[in-house]
Amino acid sequence: MMSISKAMCRSRLLQIFLAMGSAFAFADTPVEMVVEGDYVLTMDSDHRVIANGAVAISDGKVVAVGPADDILAKYQPRERVSGKGKVVLPGLINGHAHSAMTLLRGIADDLSIYEWLNEYIFPAEVRFVDPEFVRIGTQLACWEMIRGGTTTFVDMYYHPDVIAEVVQECGMRALISATVIDQKSPDAESADDSLAKAIEFVRRWQNKAPRITPIFGPHANYTLNVEQLKATRKAAQALNATISIHMAESPYEVEYSQEKYGTGSVSMFESIGFFEGPTIAAHMVWPNDDEIRILAAGNVGVVYNPTSNMKTAAGIAPIPEMREAGVAVGIGTDGAASNNDLDMWEEMRLGALLQKVNAMDPELLAAAEVLRMATIEGAQAIGLADVTGSLEPGKQADLIQVDFTDAHHVPTYDVISHLVYVTDEQDVTTVIVEGKMLMRDRVLLTLDTEQIRHDAETLAAKIRKELSP
Ligand SMILES: [Zn+2]
Repeated sequence: MMSISKAMCRSRLLQIFLAMGSAFAFADTPVEMVVEGDYVLTMDSDHRVIANGAVAISDGKVVAVGPADDILAKYQPRERVSGKGKVVLPGLINGHAHSAMTLLRGIADDLSIYEWLNEYIFPAEVRFVDPEFVRIGTQLACWEMIRGGTTTFVDMYYHPDVIAEVVQECGMRALISATVIDQKSPDAESADDSLAKAIEFVRRWQNKAPRITPIFGPHANYTLNVEQLKATRKAAQALNATISIHMAESPYEVEYSQEKYGTGSVSMFESIGFFEGPTIAAHMVWPNDDEIRILAAGNVGVVYNPTSNMKTAAGIAPIPEMREAGVAVGIGTDGAASNNDLDMWEEMRLGALLQKVNAMDPELLAAAEVLRMATIEGAQAIGLADVTGSLEPGKQADLIQVDFTDAHHVPTYDVISHLVYVTDEQDVTTVIVEGKMLMRDRVLLTLDTEQIRHDAETLAAKIRKELSP
């Protein structure tokens, strides 16, 4: 038998529902936020494109995804984000960046990777990169990435504690690699010194902040020797940490590897047991067929950097072949000094077009596949597929709204086609990470953009003065 108080409570609830008298009558589950869209792309295994869809969010996580009518009939949001003229999808994942290099954007262009690195970038970095440079450069990069709809990135640079602090403050999600390199760098004197500092960094940030994953970033097999690469893997294994690295990027690297090790880069890494732990390999332009099998067997995540590869004339990565072999491939911008921006939409578009013209096959890397690489497959490639990359109940609420009302989106026959072949950074209006709004109506909420612009210009003026003869 029902108690009197329960019966009273129920009748009171019924009165409230009747008073509301709308579709909300049974919306009795409170949630923090509902984000709506003319279309919602889940990017999960069902590849759903939901017309008039919505995402319910609470405690930083996705609670439910479905038609807006169903979601609003069930959930009572504290905040409702209108989706009129908007498309909702998971935030983009930039799988390879050197974020603070935004401050070296345009400092040296139109050079081979060898000349660019050794004659310009490495010397400029030793001269100018200090914690303040990294703070301002990373803030500038996060501004650009949030503005363009990127919610997660994999970074590799110097003074990683400063990068982690900026990411923590601005609300993005990141894997942050502490660079290990066998030369004097902005934050270390030698390979041993950089590895020791990387170990300390990973220890400091492991399990400290949920949005930040500290990892190791050995630079490449032409800037570290075998013993140093092995020592880095051993340290990563001991701490159960991921490694991100440049691999098989350029003809220069392949020649170096053949000359020094008598084998291609990927084979050389395999021969020293380097893939016995989670690995994110950026670029991967020159693996041969055997090496593609090694990458698949070793569960190596690959990141495609088409603009950087085109700009340094490094080559064209065999992306369809790697994906066919079962390798998870994400997309990255690389640093802003070799791109020269952090625009993932442009990266998707150029990445698809480059593969098509290379093989003279327009069916290669269709729009839906490229969009997967920038979202859920990118999450797989960097080991975060359980956390982000798709809109599914239980996963982190990392999502964006893209405005589809501007001239270039009209008319819309196919949402996915537009996202890959039309959309620009400026079309992104809303960015949410872990359920928290980082950008609303194109206004950044967690970064002081005027201050960053001022700081970046001031620092650039100093660099310009010192570089002038
Ligand atoms: Zn790189």
